[in-house]
Amino acid sequence: MIYCCEDHVELALDVIVDDYFVAPKLEKIEDPGKAESGCEYCGKLAVYMVANG
Ligand SMILES: [Zn+2]
Repeated sequence: MIYCCEDHVELALDVIVDDYFVAPKLEKIEDPGKAESGCEYCGKLAVYMVANG
């Protein structure tokens, strides 16, 4: 599972496909203040959660 911001959502999707060879599941975080962590890549507030399957 990858938390990512608006800017890095494409990257996160690519990473899931490359690592797990499955279609990633993209979920919008409705309340970003409650996200457990920031963007994996830049540390900004995470807006999306990308899961493998
Ligand atoms: Zn980011």
